[in-house]
Amino acid sequence: MKRKLNGIVLFFAITYILTGCQKKDASEIETEIETEIERSEESVSESAQSMTETVADGGDYDFGTDDFETTLSETDMLGAGTSDTETTDLFDADSLGTNSDGAEESDKERSISDAADSFYYTALTDEIKARITGKSYPDTDEPLQISYEDLAYVHVLHYDFQAQIQEGELICNQSVAQDLVEIFYELYENQYPIEKIRLIDEYDADDEVSMADNNTSCFNYRTVPGRTTLSNHSYGCAIDINPLYNPYVRTSGGKEQISPDNAVPYADRSADFPYKIDKNDLCYRVFIEHGFSWGGAWNSSKDYQHFEKVE
Ligand SMILES: [Zn+2]
Repeated sequence: MKRKLNGIVLFFAITYILTGCQKKDASEIETEIETEIERSEESVSESAQSMTETVADGGDYDFGTDDFETTLSETDMLGAGTSDTETTDLFDADSLGTNSDGAEESDKERSISDAADSFYYTALTDEIKARITGKSYPDTDEPLQISYEDLAYVHVLHYDFQAQIQEGELICNQSVAQDLVEIFYELYENQYPIEKIRLIDEYDADDEVSMADNNTSCFNYRTVPGRTTLSNHSYGCAIDINPLYNPYVRTSGGKEQISPDNAVPYADRSADFPYKIDKNDLCYRVFIEHGFSWGGAWNSSKDYQHFEKVE
């Protein structure tokens, strides 16, 4: 429609120049026509841009993250402003690229498309704030290094150890929310096994208990074990994957410490066992591609479950 209007405007502009400005010489007319064409092209381009933004699914909640694909992360201002709990989906239908040639979607493609709807992030709703406050999010008048507004709620799907599809929930820093949605979608597409992804609040924010239960989790306002400094989990910038099989191994007072306690069989990384994260592992590769660093590559200690992205 806008393209049509632009064509009409262009037609009248050229007609006006040709009929109404008889005194101008040919070169002036040519310049004016070129200018009008340029303006018209700009306008068409703007229209196309705004149409792209309009059709983009989700994108209402702009965390200012880097572009993944333009339509994934651009804020759709036209649709914004309904509430502060709008979701940002992983994909709009087109960006999956499964149906770009107009061919009918296969069942598999359709199921991928449906599944993609389950990968999204939102701002923290009051309901989510209530779930985490007094647990992973301290209920205190003391100043914190994080606010609710810094955080995002992430919803994903994943394959468990029985190859069943499960829902997963995470709280993370808004700066890594888009990364996590994309990472977990890639892991899901490849049926990467993750036993459970529950909010650590279901374990009363007790990291040891969560790790011992092999729970994958992200935000938890806490110090580094054995130290007084805040862990990057406190900012929601660090995530632990399948922590039982990928323990935190450090030396303290000349003695090896393994967290969680029941992970001793998995501290020897030369041993062969399932769910082990190493540099050949898909999980490692996907996190690294998204700019995360891996605790298994640290020198002073080894935290094989741990990935973090600190800007
Ligand atoms: Zn960690």
